[in-house]
Amino acid sequence: MCGIIGYIGFECEKNLYEGLKKLEYRGYDSSGMTTNRDGKFNTYKSIGRVENLSNKIIFNNKNGIGIAHTRWATHGNVTLQNAHPHFSEDEKIAIVHNGIIENYIDLKEKLISQGVKFYGESDTEVIAKHFKKDISLEKFKSVIDKLKGTYAILAISCNSDKIFFAKNKSPLYIALDKETVMFSSDISCFFGKFDKFYTLEDGEYGFADKNSIIFYKNSKKISKQCNEIKSKLCISSKGRFKHFMLKEIFESKKVGNNILKYIQTSKVTKLINDILKNDIEKIYLIGCGSAYNAGLIGKRFFRLYGYDADCILASEFEHENIFINNKTLCIFISQSGETYDTLKVLDLCKTKGGICLGITNVEYSTLSQKSDYLLSLNAGVEKAVASTKAYLAQVVMCCLLAIKMKYLSYDNYILDNKNYDIYKRFGKEYYNLDINLNESNLKEIAEFISCFKYVFYIGKGVDYDIALEGSLKLKEISYIFSLALPCLELKHGTLALIDENTVTIAICSEQNLIDKIISSSQEIKARGGKVILLTICDIEEQYNKNFDRIIKVSSSGKLNFLNIIISLQKIAYYVATIKCNNPDMPKNLAKSVTVE
Ligand code: GLU
Repeated sequence: MCGIIGYIGFECEKNLYEGLKKLEYRGYDSSGMTTNRDGKFNTYKSIGRVENLSNKIIFNNKNGIGIAHTRWATHGNVTLQNAHPHFSEDEKIAIVHNGIIENYIDLKEKLISQGVKFYGESDTEVIAKHFKKDISLEKFKSVIDKLKGTYAILAISCNSDKIFFAKNKSPLYIALDKETVMFSSDISCFFGKFDKFYTLEDGEYGFADKNSIIFYKNSKKISKQCNEIKSKLCISSKGRFKHFMLKEIFESKKVGNNILKYIQTSKVTKLINDILKNDIEKIYLIGCGSAYNAGLIGKRFFRLYGYDADCILASEFEHENIFINNKTLCIFISQSGETYDTLKVLDLCKTKGGICLGITNVEYSTLSQKSDYLLSLNAGVEKAVASTKAYLAQVVMCCLLAIKMKYLSYDNYILDNKNYDIYKRFGKEYYNLDINLNESNLKEIAEFISCFKYVFYIGKGVDYDIALEGSLKLKEISYIFSLALPCLELKHGTLALIDENTVTIAICSEQNLIDKIISSSQEIKARGGKVILLTICDIEEQYNKNFDRIIKVSSSGKLNFLNIIISLQKIAYYVATIKCNNPDMPKNLAKSVTVE
């Protein structure tokens, strides 16, 4: 969360502003920019979306140095005072920061006792208040050494032509080309401008001017290899859609099909063979939010295909006292590949000798770089904060991986280029996504739901996992209270909440479970609650009266629940638009959760 950018070169304000627009998905509570023009700082700040900054900035096409920030507040309210950049007391040093300074209260108290005055409540201001007049490398290092927590920091002084930087646990990348240097929290800002970039590792710091970047670690100068930018200029536009979220839901079919092809390539076959050589005894799928929900479905598939698998929330992992050794496969799922909680578990699993496989949508992310093995989702840029196509891609990837691991081990790790054709194995198309299904019915359901304050989701087995994601999607973008639970759990407590003010979405993708859903629905209706059934199963006419609405979704083949997932995403989307919320940028949230 939070995006930071630094720039040395021509059209500094323009480049910083364009960068901020690209990083806005990381937070949109406030944004700000400081540039050094002939030894004087120009600062612009505004609350809310980055575009609010545009008419405040004085653009200058001459050479300049600057830093900029788009904020997702962790410490301190959303105010102009707490918006970055933050300043030293004499206002000669400006700082932007992504992360959390855990010991900021101690540091702040010490500074206050020395007479230093603060203007806001943010943890970042504490870093800035350690400086005066100018920055030297020694001073910068001594301040960094005082910090506990996570940070990507950029600092400038109005007396110098350098940008100082430091990184610990928050992402930071640097690109350099012909008297131009750019820093960014993700590499999308470099596309079309640079061919090469450096990835900073934890503990690295240094400074850059227009001609060079000097890197340090543990007080020693180090040299670093740069990476090539392989991706083409990657601009994501809404096209004919009103929002990115809807466009991204409609891209699911293409995304799923790409994974189907990718999983059958010899590259992936080799990767899985290499993993299997470790005689895997246990599999953990690890993620947060939607990625965790995808892992839950993956877990069921691994178990179905004979593996001992569990899915664990990354933020809870350390409390589970989990045994890991070199026969444990740890699968880390993260859209951005920068999810802090997930990366923390990755470090832990590595120290215990676990085999770490990353599943991510961002090729250059920290997860991609730190994992022993990598499966790329290749879902394309996902702009909407609430994940849709990337979640679906994670589900398809986990399920197909489980199947492929089963048959490769069954075939005794035959290492050849034989195409493990999943189509052939199962004799029919593995899945058939129907993204245009039931559009008008889904809109009508959304109208119906949008009048309620409480929405429950129920299902059994994999349908419960899907219910969790449907419920998460609804609360993320509609701000309606929502809870998902296994249908037979209703009677163990939650039925107490059911009355005429509640609506329940019942999900059924397996014919043999329809009876259970019908009985749960009867229990809800007996208490005055409304029930909507979303199913791919046939239902006898006499049971129709148990539901206020029935949406029949076409089966999507072996992964027959995928069309239900898409329907739930669309329902959430339509509810959000009916309530006039911006589904792409829901309140209080941000994409790429880089703080704990
Ligand atoms: N802790 C800083 C603030 O609240 C940065 C937040 C972040 O990186 O998400 O301003």
